Amino acid sequence: MNQPGAVPQQLDAVVVGAGFSGLYLLHRLRQLGFSVKVFDSASDVGGTWYWNRYPGARCDIPTTDYTYSFDPELEKEWTWSEKYATQPEILDYLRFVADRYGLRSDIEFSTSVTSARWDEGERRWRLTTDRNQQLRCRYYIMASGCLSMPKSPDIEGADRFAGQVYFTSRWPQERVDFTGRRVAAIGTGSSGIQSIPLIAEQASQLTVFQRTPNFSIPADNGPAPADRLKRLGEDRDGYRLSARWSRGGIPVETTDILGVTASEAVRRQRFEAAWGQGELFGILGVFADQVVNPASNEIVAEMIREKIRSIVKDPETAEALCPQDHYFGTKRPCLDTGYFETYNLPHVRLVDLRKQPITSITEQGIETPDESFEFDAIVYATGFDAMTGALVAVDVAMGGGLSLKDKWAGGPSTYLGLMTVGFPNFFMITGPGSPSVLSNMAVSIEQHVDWVVGCLKDMRDEGFETIEPTPLAESGWDQHVRDCAAITLYPTANSWYMGANVPGKPRVFLPYIGGVDAYRRACDEVVAQGYLGFQMAGPGGEQCRDGVIRRMQPDVAMVLEMMAELGLPPLETLPVADARAFMTAIAATRPPSPEVGEVTDGVMPGPDGDLPYRLYRPAAPPEGPHPVVVYFHGGGWVLGDLDSDDPLCRDLCARTAAVVVSVNYRHAPEARFPAAAEDAFAALRWVDANASELGGIPGQLAVAGWSAGGNIAAVACQKARDAGGPDISGQLLITPVVDSQMTRPSFSENGDGYILTGALMRWFWDHYADPADRGDPGVAPLRGNLDGLPPVCIVTADFDPLRDEGVAYARALEAAAVPVRHVRARGHTHTSVTMVGVVISGAPVRAEMAEALRGFFPAPVRASRTAG
Ligand code: NAP
Repeated sequence: MNQPGAVPQQLDAVVVGAGFSGLYLLHRLRQLGFSVKVFDSASDVGGTWYWNRYPGARCDIPTTDYTYSFDPELEKEWTWSEKYATQPEILDYLRFVADRYGLRSDIEFSTSVTSARWDEGERRWRLTTDRNQQLRCRYYIMASGCLSMPKSPDIEGADRFAGQVYFTSRWPQERVDFTGRRVAAIGTGSSGIQSIPLIAEQASQLTVFQRTPNFSIPADNGPAPADRLKRLGEDRDGYRLSARWSRGGIPVETTDILGVTASEAVRRQRFEAAWGQGELFGILGVFADQVVNPASNEIVAEMIREKIRSIVKDPETAEALCPQDHYFGTKRPCLDTGYFETYNLPHVRLVDLRKQPITSITEQGIETPDESFEFDAIVYATGFDAMTGALVAVDVAMGGGLSLKDKWAGGPSTYLGLMTVGFPNFFMITGPGSPSVLSNMAVSIEQHVDWVVGCLKDMRDEGFETIEPTPLAESGWDQHVRDCAAITLYPTANSWYMGANVPGKPRVFLPYIGGVDAYRRACDEVVAQGYLGFQMAGPGGEQCRDGVIRRMQPDVAMVLEMMAELGLPPLETLPVADARAFMTAIAATRPPSPEVGEVTDGVMPGPDGDLPYRLYRPAAPPEGPHPVVVYFHGGGWVLGDLDSDDPLCRDLCARTAAVVVSVNYRHAPEARFPAAAEDAFAALRWVDANASELGGIPGQLAVAGWSAGGNIAAVACQKARDAGGPDISGQLLITPVVDSQMTRPSFSENGDGYILTGALMRWFWDHYADPADRGDPGVAPLRGNLDGLPPVCIVTADFDPLRDEGVAYARALEAAAVPVRHVRARGHTHTSVTMVGVVISGAPVRAEMAEALRGFFPAPVRASRTAG
């Protein structure tokens, strides 16, 4: 081990942590000629695998994948003995790596960095260690692991116990023998579930204190999986590449089968295959929608519960072991070897803390309201202050200024999970806001290290000495991390992913759930765009490429990617009949729409023949009559019908508890301007006159429309005002067409690639209106008289060519003293907010639309149910 005096004063980089990340960082940085020192509080390499020596500790990603991949020679020299290696074997591997690359000479063991101060004048970090060493370094890199700071035991009396106390996260180096002892185990996360069966093998009596039952599947440990070995043997590079570009950092077959629509036979077959395979990403991917759809998730959850009930003989114990309070996967599921079977042993007992909480720990054991337990040993498997604990444990601060702990008091804020504003040259490996704990850590660590090392090299080459993200880039990334989590079920659980396991820790979803592949793409793009979102300075000058790397809602981006993969011809290149047939075919592939009370079709008289309509009646309560919303579908006056916007109408009906009357108007090119607008006005009048018969409250009439439907809705309101009726309570205009001028910036920004293109919009205009008519307020309501119009809720979307005309309409209406509620659909396209059941991130926007609609009516109507 190095002596304190041997540490150089000036270093290029200091790394904290000598686990998987720190070792690889050291190797890479040294290769590039950087001077580096690694510090670790342990007496050897290994990081998490140094500390977590508890019985049964193993990795739960197959060793074929839980391994370094940066050096093919290293891969040839090491062979793992089984599918899930034990902690000693993984520690041996990391020791082998440290020795093979001669890393130990630059690692200072049994030493912790205790404080770090940024010296702005020197552009260096000044570090202090617990051995009172003072260092200066250009770059300070935390490779301290996501699950390395044990959670302190938050149980009354924990320090009083006179017997032996063990923490799975700080297990002694020497062998622990529980033979003949009465042991208590507290905690049933991965560490508890792995250790309990082995403790039970020795203990004379084992009592497990369980607060939350966890989902666990059998690891089916044994030789490394034959299919993975085969693929590796045939094409190691290809396999590694596919891991790097996979969702979780391990190649798995993905599915597009939805749990909610799959047959019972398919559900069972897929589940049993995943159960038998014994891999986390298999069971997490039984159905494409199990992470986002509660019903689909419940199918998998219940099948796991069935397995638990079939294994555990005592029905009461079995039931207590069945997780019921969180969706499967939203707390980290476990892989086990004989965990549930352990409860069939006569000397093992489960205490359900939900029924029988711990009141205190005493000198002899554990007290609950009903019982006093005596123990010789207590094992705490109570988890970690995950992802942020180790980072804020070091007193990191700007010279005398804000500390990282203060900055993150309300939850971490990072750019790409790599850096954080206000802390130049401070890097995190697998920090919060990166895929990290949701992925195969080996792959994520290599990606992060490669990115950081590449960045430092680029800076050196360009003559930059400092790097820091911009506030805009960081807040944009934080938002994207939140957006990705928000479309999943994960934030609903009291998990350590949410910081919920540590009392007082802010409830924020900590990792990035968009996927290893999506994340890698974002990181690569940042570099390709000249370090977008970073500012750099040094002798080479200053550079700041401010911007946000991901502004689009993640599920909107997914839909666009899927459509791009289909390689469909642009709609405007098709004959109208084919374009309509295409729209019908698309509508047939949609997931089930929200339920409403009743749906009936009918016809109403129009100016030139009958107009078909579909009436959506809300489910009771409340009993009718209800306010009425007349709705006009989108489709550029050319496409669309009663079916095309059916899910949106159901959603509006369910959310508002209003009767929605969707009207099919005449389409172009068969019926050109002003046919559609005339039909819309006629429909309004007819519904108004027949409100009672339709189940509506007379005089409580609003109008709504999407896109071209928004156009004719807006025009109909102007017509109604001019005609002295009907009286309209309000208008909901969803990404409407309100002008014919296609020169606003949103057309150039968003005119291509977001489904509604500039070319398609021109095609619509050409079919609907002669150029000479396009300035008429009957087709361009923005150009009309806006005085005295009913209140408006207007929705504009960021990635919509029509965005700026919508904004212009909102401003013009405000100027005309019309009450306006402007809903900006952040990260959405022209079409995405209407994609009910497909684009989950549209739900909050639709909730806001519904709220606005309800607000138009005099007596507020409460939503009967929320729709998805
Ligand atoms: P954990 O998942 O946070 O589990 C901690 C357990 O202790 C939970 O059951 C928790 O209950 C319970 N607990 C905490 N405080 C308690 C209290 N005051 N009273 C009663 N019970 C209490 O921690 P972990 O098992 O150490 O695992 C953490 C993570 O490390 C895993 O999710 C995994 O990512 C990683 N890990 C991986 C492996 C592997 O690769 N094989 C092995 C071990 C760990 P609640 O759920 O009610 O909070």
